[in-house]
Amino acid sequence: MRLIFERGAPGRHGVALPRPDVPAAPVLDARWRRVEPAALPEVSELDVVRHYTRLSQENFSVDTNFYPLGSCTMKYNPKFTEVVAGLEGFRDLHPLLPQLEQGCLLTQGALEVIHSLERLLCEITGMRAFTSQPMAGAHGELTGIMLVAAYHRAKGRKRTHVLVPDSSHGTNPSSAAIAGYETRTIQTDARGVMDLGKFRAALNDETAAVMLTCPNTLGIFESRIAEIAHIAHERDALMYCDGANMNAIIGRVRPGDIGFDVVHLNLHKTLATPHGGGGPGAGPVGCGAKLEPFLPVSRVVRRTDGSFFLDYDRPDTIGYIAPFYGNFGILLRAYAYLLLLGREGLAKVSEHAVLNANYVRVKLRDVFDFPYDRICMHECVASASRQAARGVQAIDIAKALIDRGFHPPTVYFPLIVKEAMMIEPTETESRETLDSFVAAMREIAALADRDPEAVRRAPEKTRIRHPDETRAAREAKLRWIPGAP
Ligand SMILES: *Cc1c(COP(=O)(O)O)cnc(C)c1O
Repeated sequence: MRLIFERGAPGRHGVALPRPDVPAAPVLDARWRRVEPAALPEVSELDVVRHYTRLSQENFSVDTNFYPLGSCTMKYNPKFTEVVAGLEGFRDLHPLLPQLEQGCLLTQGALEVIHSLERLLCEITGMRAFTSQPMAGAHGELTGIMLVAAYHRAKGRKRTHVLVPDSSHGTNPSSAAIAGYETRTIQTDARGVMDLGKFRAALNDETAAVMLTCPNTLGIFESRIAEIAHIAHERDALMYCDGANMNAIIGRVRPGDIGFDVVHLNLHKTLATPHGGGGPGAGPVGCGAKLEPFLPVSRVVRRTDGSFFLDYDRPDTIGYIAPFYGNFGILLRAYAYLLLLGREGLAKVSEHAVLNANYVRVKLRDVFDFPYDRICMHECVASASRQAARGVQAIDIAKALIDRGFHPPTVYFPLIVKEAMMIEPTETESRETLDSFVAAMREIAALADRDPEAVRRAPEKTRIRHPDETRAAREAKLRWIPGAP
């Protein structure tokens, strides 16, 4: 596709200004004037609109295609939450506006949104307090583990490591490491949950916390959490819940009720906000009474007269983890989404997320291997090992799906499944869409049996087909040079 610079024609422009009826202003000093005119595109408004509209259509997006990217929850989010986020009373707020005690009322509404959202998240997760400051899921994890570290430090003892099952999200061990802990990996058993014997053997008086991704990255719910929590708490190791994919259990299970001490949610997965393209996110962290004193500043507090203020006077806080109000726009969308769905709507979210994943699993289990073929939660993990034996790998199946109009699932993750294809249909897809995806997967599987080379040729319908990925990374051409090939 041509660049905007390669479109249009000399002298063409998109705006028509009236001839000035006032004398020309004194011209810039000759020293500062360009010798050559700037090399700007000379295009009409229509050239510009068509160019960028076409570019936008080159993208896969949830608004255009099914996007079953496992662990990422690429679901449709109602446009209503975008409207709310665009209300000017919120949109035009400046983070440096003075607070009420300085006579300014303008921030009270925003503080109330944060306060109310935190209350709702407490109710949903069974936690005592929430901070909405962290700006991503991984940032929430780091915040949560810093709370854990502060807890042990306050008790004046040395804890050296965090236990993490091998089915956890990759950010879990990284967050623990950044917080200064060694991570020790616990193997998954044949049922896809943490091996309890290995867990018992690894736990000791130097264990700071146990981090469980819940459900885990196999899409399986760890059914013995209460027991694990009991064992961990006997050593005063804390229980961390990675609740990024809370859409699997929302309205059904509250992490606080089954023994977790701290949890983070990904608002940009579970509670609205489209997050393709790595846009802004929010990873609020909830905790029980043990950890509450350590929460980061600032805290939004409600006074008895109903007004709100930002509390910085918290002697045991871990300090600042984000500027100002966190990612306020994301918090606002989540709040609007919660009010829109209500208690019953949220329970339906998890019902449909789980139903859809199991529907896909059952419809595909005779043509693909499912190493953990049991009731899953919001996602199921298939393996292309049967196809790989014929020379068709997960990556080839992913590319073949692109030709058929579907975004591929997450491939090669989790690492404990060979040729993994992690499929997360999400709660927002209809049965017709799931059926068409299943049909495409079955057709590709049949083609892999009959004519493996035909699958390996994919993608055939994309603008760029088989880039040399190593060369593209090593010799990246990031600059357009007129006339260059
Ligand atoms: C997405 C995800 C994360 C990380 O969230 P980011 O916002 O990308 O940092 C952590 N854990 C799980 C289980 C996830 O799915």
